[in-house]
Amino acid sequence: MQIRLRSSLIAMADNCRHMLLYEYILKIQSLATAANLAFGRCVDIATREYLRSLTLGTPLPDPVSTFQALWAQETSENILVFTATQSPDVFERMGTDLLRDLPERWDATGYEVALDADGNPLLDVSLSYYLGRFTNIDVFLDGTLDVIVYTDDSELAVVDVKSAAASHTPLYTLRSDQLTSYQVLVQGNRRKLGLPPLRRLGFWDFLKRRASARIEPPLLVPVRSAQELLAFRDKCFWLAEDIKRRRFPKVSRMQFNTPCEMCAFAQHCIYGDDEGLVFPASSSQQTA
Ligand code: SF4
Repeated sequence: MQIRLRSSLIAMADNCRHMLLYEYILKIQSLATAANLAFGRCVDIATREYLRSLTLGTPLPDPVSTFQALWAQETSENILVFTATQSPDVFERMGTDLLRDLPERWDATGYEVALDADGNPLLDVSLSYYLGRFTNIDVFLDGTLDVIVYTDDSELAVVDVKSAAASHTPLYTLRSDQLTSYQVLVQGNRRKLGLPPLRRLGFWDFLKRRASARIEPPLLVPVRSAQELLAFRDKCFWLAEDIKRRRFPKVSRMQFNTPCEMCAFAQHCIYGDDEGLVFPASSSQQTA
């Protein structure tokens, strides 16, 4: 048996194993998309396309125009869910403010986008790595990295671009499983990519503020130790075993930190209401 994991799946499993069942195993889809998610996608693509042209020396796109075109497409083609304080116009203004600052903020980092062995910029890089065999399960890790850079100290670093409401903290950056998984993927593919050893990992925050949206300086930390990587591999193995054995308990946690209030499957999971969800034929609504 083969099981493929990725950092978003691992995070969802930590949040609620039953949500993982709905999203990744039964592949139930929600008709609506969280506006935050769609916005993040637009910011990521506009940033990436700007950095790609800059690295290749091709004519530079205007990141603001790229963002605005992508956002207009998101709002016209998809059903987006906004919170009480959000609206399409607020997001458009925040995105415009952020992308207008991108050229100057990127220059201020002193970073250069790394190239692979064929001279391709390492932006939006999809990688896979075989973690090993555990109780007859071949466990693979997959992931798509925003950007791999050389810092101004010539250290190789993985940078994850995040549109976030609040800055990432050093504590979280040192602990994030997402960054750990990226380290595993880069180290496992380093020779194929023609890269030196990876030294640093971190987040580059694009802060969503109604009146003061801004791009923070990237926050980088040293790579994880060998011991931390082994602990992460064990975590992946145990999750793969849970998936194989179909262990998907529901969780409530406490009222103040319950995942249920923000869960796209809550109406189905709690009340058996399927409105707004698309069930693949094979899942046959066997789930609540
Ligand atoms: S409603 Fe709660 S228990 Fe059900 S899937 Fe969502 S987070 Fe899990």
